[in-house]
Amino acid sequence: MSDLNANFKKAQQAFTAIKSKTVAEKAAFLEAMAVQIENIKSELIPTASKESNLPDGRITGELGRTLGQIRLFANLVKEGSWVEATIDHADPDRSPAPKPDIRRMLRPLGPVVVFGASNFPLAFSTAGGDTVSALAAGCPVIYKAHPAHPATSKLVAGAIRDAAQKSGMPEDIFQHLEGGISVGQEMAKHPMAKAIAFTGSYTGGKALFDTAAAREEPIPVYAEMGSVNPIFAFESKLSQHLDALATAYVGSLTLGVGQFCTNPGLIFVPESKADAFSKAVAEKIAAVSAAPMLHDGIAKTYKDRIATLKEKDKLSWVHAATASELTHGSPALARVTAADWISDDAFQEEVFGPFGILVSYKNTSQLVQIADSLKGQLTCTLWAEDDELAENVEFLALIEEKCGRLLFKGAPTGVEVGFAMQHGGPFPSTSDSRSTSVGVYAIKRFARPVAFQDMPERFLPEELKESNPLDIWRTVDGVLKK
Ligand code: NAP
Repeated sequence: MSDLNANFKKAQQAFTAIKSKTVAEKAAFLEAMAVQIENIKSELIPTASKESNLPDGRITGELGRTLGQIRLFANLVKEGSWVEATIDHADPDRSPAPKPDIRRMLRPLGPVVVFGASNFPLAFSTAGGDTVSALAAGCPVIYKAHPAHPATSKLVAGAIRDAAQKSGMPEDIFQHLEGGISVGQEMAKHPMAKAIAFTGSYTGGKALFDTAAAREEPIPVYAEMGSVNPIFAFESKLSQHLDALATAYVGSLTLGVGQFCTNPGLIFVPESKADAFSKAVAEKIAAVSAAPMLHDGIAKTYKDRIATLKEKDKLSWVHAATASELTHGSPALARVTAADWISDDAFQEEVFGPFGILVSYKNTSQLVQIADSLKGQLTCTLWAEDDELAENVEFLALIEEKCGRLLFKGAPTGVEVGFAMQHGGPFPSTSDSRSTSVGVYAIKRFARPVAFQDMPERFLPEELKESNPLDIWRTVDGVLKK
């Protein structure tokens, strides 16, 4: 605890120092961060690839995404409207009482604790979305390295601290800590921590959420946990595109050895098409080779979870990998009727890896029952013709309540980093469905609104000064303007 005290004190000092930096200086730090990480790519790519078992090509793509994400936040900081600057001018002549001048904007929370993910050693890790959105908000980050890629994490941490030093920011704007669950728990309990961001298992995320809620000062926890991302296929759509949709499903299910939070672990198919669709899927799955998983722990959990499901009488196996194949992340697919699926919550639990359950449903009213039983998801996907959507408006309304992103084309794997993306759904997929961990709105998690009433102009933050020196979009007396 004493070392952690020193870490948090340094973070708090960095927080104070950052507050006096200009918007341009804060953006320059993020830009320098991208440059410094790019500068080490010849060492970073093979290191990350070796530690994660992910091919160089995938890591190269992930690096591009990570750098793009950092630069997106740098531009967001420069553009400035994310702070929601809002001004209500005073009216001293108002009766019966004069109206005060009130100016409101989002301000950074303070030191943020970030737990990186194992499945994206770059884009959801040390310099990933949680870290960069917290830094962009003006919060220092104390980062708990994921033990699955320690060397990758250290390399990136060094680049972030170099960027801070080169751009005149305090180096302790970012600190990198290693250790197991007990260190993570102590970080979450520390009184100077103001928020937690996490990507990983339901068990880990919920434990951190409970720890934060039990603190003397509870703090927000943004935990992205498990999701099975159901696809709902409708009859007419399947009749017309059965083979293409089977290809799309298998591609999404097995991408990255199934180790994506948006992996479609459930697919609902009408009874009339279930045999034909499962046959097409089985043929395509058989052609996919097994590949090593991210780390031994994930491979073991994958194997154990499938072994447990194999004991369930209600499941039949469309493609059943052997125990030794499963150690290497071999894909598997099981099948169950909708009535049996509804009766057992175990069929909704995430199996992290290339495993799916095909559920055959009878009709529209059974679809509504399925939607009623479904737990919160990051995504839901509908493969339907327009007239099928029109015939299922009740189902459509219900399914919207169950997810953060609703797709009408393609597959849920592949998360765009942009302005409109929502990556966060109702519990248990995340601990706070009002937030996203991908895209620019991720920044809002690490800021809180402050209103300044009748504050003398010279003390106001730049964003709220009368002359609008940063030239940002603001809401002035109810009107959005520059
Ligand atoms: P994890 O076990 O949840 O670990 C993630 C991070 O949280 C690690 O740094 C871990 O520390 C820490 N942690 C775990 N439990 C904790 C606790 N009770 N208190 C404090 N810190 C805790 O996730 P993982 O190792 O990346 O993968 C394991 C499983 O997570 C997978 O099999 C999969 O089910 C799921 N997963 C889901 C997603 C998703 O996006 N939904 C992504 C990746 C993984 P230590 O490792 O040092 O103990």
